[in-house]
Amino acid sequence: MNTIEAKDKQYIWHPFTQMQEWVESPQTVITSAKGITLYDTEGNTYYDGVSSLWVNIHGHQRPEINQAIIEQLGKTAHTTALGLANIPASILAEMLVEAAPEGLKKVFYSDDGATAVEVALKMAFQYWQHRGKREKTRFIALDNAYHGDTIGSVSVGGVDLFHRIFQPLLFEPYHIPSPSFYHSSMKNEAEFTEYCLNALETLLKEHHKEIAGLIIEPLVQAAAGMLMSPRGYLSGVRRLTKEYDVLLIADEVATGFGRTGRMFACEHEEVSPDLMCVSKGITGGYLPLAATLATDEIYNAFLGTMAEKKTFYHGHSYTANQLGCAAGIASLEIFAKDRVIEGLKTKIACIDEMLQGIKSLPHVGDARQCGMIVGIELILDKDKKIPYDWTQTMGAIVCMKAREHGLFIRPVGDVIVFMPPLCSTEAEIKIMLDITKRAIIEITELGQSAASGGGAHF
Ligand SMILES: *Cc1c(COP(=O)(O)O)cnc(C)c1O
Repeated sequence: MNTIEAKDKQYIWHPFTQMQEWVESPQTVITSAKGITLYDTEGNTYYDGVSSLWVNIHGHQRPEINQAIIEQLGKTAHTTALGLANIPASILAEMLVEAAPEGLKKVFYSDDGATAVEVALKMAFQYWQHRGKREKTRFIALDNAYHGDTIGSVSVGGVDLFHRIFQPLLFEPYHIPSPSFYHSSMKNEAEFTEYCLNALETLLKEHHKEIAGLIIEPLVQAAAGMLMSPRGYLSGVRRLTKEYDVLLIADEVATGFGRTGRMFACEHEEVSPDLMCVSKGITGGYLPLAATLATDEIYNAFLGTMAEKKTFYHGHSYTANQLGCAAGIASLEIFAKDRVIEGLKTKIACIDEMLQGIKSLPHVGDARQCGMIVGIELILDKDKKIPYDWTQTMGAIVCMKAREHGLFIRPVGDVIVFMPPLCSTEAEIKIMLDITKRAIIEITELGQSAASGGGAHF
């Protein structure tokens, strides 16, 4: 064990990690990263097949982003947004509003996805208080939703394994079914969409007077295992929330910044939410930064004199951090300069083609794709749809096997997640998915074992 690995094991408590297993197993220590490649202390290299947990967009050490941060560092790293404006935050806010769906006009900065969600929930709640509809205090959340790990965002979450234990601490939203077609017993996609929307409408009819907002991960329930919503679902949710006077909060933390093949997932169904949360990809994966975008209607409801007590009393120490905002500007400039979104079409088609081969494997139940987001669901018995025993951690074992072959990926349960940086070339995508396929075959069909990286999985 090298000294850094020893220090890690002695001092660090890792997120989402069973530390007993972590400490008992050999672990990879990263020294640097460039492009889509990670380098470790043992001289190994790995493709970054999950974009460093869904954040990296243009690759590591992208010269333009490095330069932007260095230049900003020469001016200042951070000054507070309480009582002071700053240059990069102002410029980035304008760029975000221009890139965002129609109607989102104001940017409230915070630090990560969970805080962006907290801000949206509190804004939605307070908005109705100012509007005099004081009974609108409840939220609607989707089964299987994931919106972050703070108490508010866990309250609107629905991943049992992560969230159940905290139940006594949470506020209780109304739940609607997860729009996961693969897991439904229905055969027809349009019928399934209608079924999901009917459930929402039934709830809204009865309870809209007490509901402030509905929060949704548009198109993809990511942490639940890349569950893709059926076509027409998101736009249906928008139509119904408008009709029943409920704010729509789009959590684009995972889907934003090109992941789905458009800048934001909402664009696929021409949806403009009332509030939108962004984070992960906002700085190109460089620095922690988040934003909650709001409509003028919401923003204006908070205007008044100090004495009217309409101020939004929320903020974080590092809100509107200059280094993060400088990285964000550089990242959005690369989107424009390199025509990144246009360039995704052929990459997305390449992934689709590769997935056909993976879908046909005997222990792959489903291989779902939305743009550059892929979830490959492992299954014990494909015909009878019998899953693996979750304590077997098949997903984690397959990912460890892939790591032996030079690809870093991480599962959510038995779903192998593949979410490469948008800058990955078609040749690199092919290599990464070939490794994934090989690892699945070796573990599920050939019964090989993987050098354990225990603990590093859900
Ligand atoms: C990751 C994620 C979050 C939480 O973001 P953090 O930066 O980890 O707090 C919230 N919502 C969605 C959809 C996410 O995927």
